[in-house]
Amino acid sequence: MHLARFPRVRLFPAPTPLERLDNLTRHLGGPEIWIKRDDCTVVATGGNKVRKLEFLAGEAVAQGADHLITQGAVQSNHVRQTAAVAAKLGMKCTALLEHRVETNDRAYLASGNVLLDRLMGLTIEYRPGGTDMNAAIVAKGAELRAAGGKPYVIPGGGSNRVGALGYVSCAQELMQQADEMGLKIDRVVHATGSAGTQAGLVAGLEGMNAGVRVLGIGVRLPKPAQEANVFKLAQEVAEYVGIRGGIAREAVEANCDYVGPGYGQPTEGMREAVTLLAQLEGVLLDPVYSGKGMAGLIDLIRKGAIGANERVVFLHTGGAVGLFGYEPFFDGGFAN
Ligand SMILES: *Cc1c(COP(=O)(O)O)cnc(C)c1O
Repeated sequence: MHLARFPRVRLFPAPTPLERLDNLTRHLGGPEIWIKRDDCTVVATGGNKVRKLEFLAGEAVAQGADHLITQGAVQSNHVRQTAAVAAKLGMKCTALLEHRVETNDRAYLASGNVLLDRLMGLTIEYRPGGTDMNAAIVAKGAELRAAGGKPYVIPGGGSNRVGALGYVSCAQELMQQADEMGLKIDRVVHATGSAGTQAGLVAGLEGMNAGVRVLGIGVRLPKPAQEANVFKLAQEVAEYVGIRGGIAREAVEANCDYVGPGYGQPTEGMREAVTLLAQLEGVLLDPVYSGKGMAGLIDLIRKGAIGANERVVFLHTGGAVGLFGYEPFFDGGFAN
């Protein structure tokens, strides 16, 4: 793997911190828990999409694009990070936001990520829940191209083989960090949605023969569909970066038992995880992804499915800005 072969814009100082969560480890009495702080990727409060955008925006710049187009749910972290990168690079940015979560709640519709999107001058168009959003941005791109623009279309979550390079890079970064610290890692756990984070991590770790397992905690799809999406993208990434022998199917593992009623719908496990990390560690998770990912990790530790002798790294993928969109939920209810 030689990532310098791919166009890239540098957006944050690497490596992100790798820290031990002493209080959470003690509280759970299980494995040693570490956290990889990809919520600290700097750009407009950071998050995992910034890593992907280093390669996506890199390709956009290389192609002479002047306009980034993408899509997401109303409280999309990916859209907020894309809008910030576009602003930084002096590009226009348009996002299609899907009403994927049924709510009239003002905080959800206007605060959190939406507030920051507007502040950064993002052009927003809304679409009803259930829209084929990736088809919608392709159509939007064609429309802008026909009008003489130079758009670069980024799929939802930045999850294609280009964006996933950001997490191949993260896998390399994490292993180098761990080796320098003399830290033997057994497993990485993180929230998985549009699959690019996990696909990149798996491809990177497999490509290095790291012997580190990856567990994605699903936030939307059932396990068979989620694993199929991750596996397909991991194979594409492996081919793109030239990993000999490809990716073993067993390297792709997702647990989708912590989604609750649906994408972006709060769960009690998420509330506990967000509250625990805030109060024990001063770490801010988010309600849609990292809160559910941590809820899964906590439950699997309590069940003994993740053993006390393991050393686990939780990849914090960011998103705390979304907490402001869920203020009524943390206040005791979730106004629908
Ligand atoms: C997008 C996102 C994820 C999921 O990453 P994917 O690459 O889409 O699977 C996890 N956490 C946060 C905070 C995110 O914004």
